[in-house]
Amino acid sequence: MKIPAFLHVGPFKWRVVRTNKADHDEAGYCLTDKHEIGVAKEGDLAGDDEEASTLVHEWIHAIITVHFPDIEDDEVLTQKLELIVMQSLRSNKTAVRAILKALA
Ligand SMILES: [Zn+2]
Repeated sequence: MKIPAFLHVGPFKWRVVRTNKADHDEAGYCLTDKHEIGVAKEGDLAGDDEEASTLVHEWIHAIITVHFPDIEDDEVLTQKLELIVMQSLRSNKTAVRAILKALA
């Protein structure tokens, strides 16, 4: 999967980089102080689906950090939202395409 170089969250531009899973022991990471998201490099994850889920997961961490700074431990919330968002996107591809077309 082609990952974006940046994600915009609130007023901030977050850099998105490929990482070596062996170095981080995670599929991804979110460095809130550096506004950087990492996604394990292609081949370290099961495929595009896991890469997409990882990107969404770390994106949600960034959103919570920027918009809900009072939430200190956001891992459980992030995991639940990742599943909900991915299931919603998978089950509603026609709506997703229509929304993207409307925003183009
Ligand atoms: Zn997480």
